[in-house]
Amino acid sequence: MTFEDTEEILHLRQRIREIINTELSPEFLRTFVPDAEWQDTATMFCKRLARDRLLTFAWPEEYGGAGASIWEQTALREEFWAHHEPRGAQYMGVNWVGPAIMHFGSPAQQHQHLPAIAAGDEVWCQGFSEPDAGSDLASLKLSAVRQPDGTFLANGQKIWTSYAGFANWCFLTARTSTGTRKQQGITVFLVPMDRAGISVRPIDSIMGPNHLNEVFFDDVILEPEEILGELDMGWAVVELVLKHERVGIARYARSDKILGDLWKVVQAADGAGSEEQRAGVAHGLVQARIARLLAYRTLVSSQKDGSPPQPSVARIVSTLLDLQVSELAMDSVGAAALDPDPESWHGGWAEDAWRYAQSATIASGTTEIQRLLASRALVNGA
Ligand SMILES: Cc1cc2nc3c(=O)[nH]c(=O)nc-3n(C[C@H](O)[C@H](O)[C@H](O)COP(=O)(O)OP(=O)(O)OC[C@H]3O[C@@H](n4cnc5c(N)ncnc54)[C@H](O)[C@@H]3O)c2cc1C
Repeated sequence: MTFEDTEEILHLRQRIREIINTELSPEFLRTFVPDAEWQDTATMFCKRLARDRLLTFAWPEEYGGAGASIWEQTALREEFWAHHEPRGAQYMGVNWVGPAIMHFGSPAQQHQHLPAIAAGDEVWCQGFSEPDAGSDLASLKLSAVRQPDGTFLANGQKIWTSYAGFANWCFLTARTSTGTRKQQGITVFLVPMDRAGISVRPIDSIMGPNHLNEVFFDDVILEPEEILGELDMGWAVVELVLKHERVGIARYARSDKILGDLWKVVQAADGAGSEEQRAGVAHGLVQARIARLLAYRTLVSSQKDGSPPQPSVARIVSTLLDLQVSELAMDSVGAAALDPDPESWHGGWAEDAWRYAQSATIASGTTEIQRLLASRALVNGA
């Protein structure tokens, strides 16, 4: 099997780059600062993509997509991630919220949410992690207790919720009963963020003051129609979501781009760079190629049998690559990486890449947990 880009894919990449360069400023594309202005720009960009059905390019046409192939979708993901993911928080709606609603949603939920995501009108956040439920997600405690009128009353806390301050919908996991296994009795609800009783408190971090958040639920009323899938059977939804989420970000594409930019910087400085820098870039490029091929292998195997992707091995390699490449960039750019002037030659990208890479081996499941999943998949021959 060859993974070379076809003429169509090359054309698609070119088209995406042109849209990015026309619609977005270089400042937006260099550093990642999730604030209100950033969110407005990302929303504008998503609506622009939506006009040409490029936001949900690989979704079926009936849901607002263009029925594109998985390889066209991959090219899109790579181009966006290489350019600082200009879709902002909306990549989640496209990558895993929509597919989960297609798989588990009622016709009414599909009708309500899928066209809105495809149009760039809905921003989602993921309400999974809690203070005592991260790697061990099935230990979650946020409760949703059924009331005599059939509604549910939710109380509890989520944490590390990305973009909760910008989102208008939450993909929420709640405990609706206690089963013999802790994976039983979890239910997924699709909840509007402006519902009475929901409050968001930002957590300042190296990723900026508004990326991570705590979200509190105090006597929040949830409607039975907001349940995605079946009551108490939400773990199956969570498993599908995490598989889509873990393969949905083409991290190796940004590493490739950073290595290319870095090489230009090194050459501009003294022509060829030090032996250490040359070796670092060469090693990074090899690792980026390995990460890319592992991601492609995951996609090919899920295409063959129609199963969701088994992304752990690919994710481990690409997140460790993120760290390695960002360290190399910081070492090579040196103290100048901290210069905030977006007009300067390094443009803030090295520091930005470094800060963002620190979270890569934690978010969406830590490297240790990915190793456990990968070894399980290898034993089962997946
Ligand atoms: C940038 C970022 C964005 C995030 N966005 C979201 C979001 O939008 N929504 C959301 O719900 N969550 C989000 N998270 C939370 C993320 O999913 C959790 O941080 C992650 O699952 C780890 O959970 P934890 O932080 O509770 O760490 P813990 O689970 O407490 O882990 C602590 C350490 O123990 C190790 N460990 C734990 N269990 C085992 C084990 N069985 N074997 C070996 N080692 C183990 C871990 O690898 C880790 O090193 C985000 C996190 C980050 C960093």
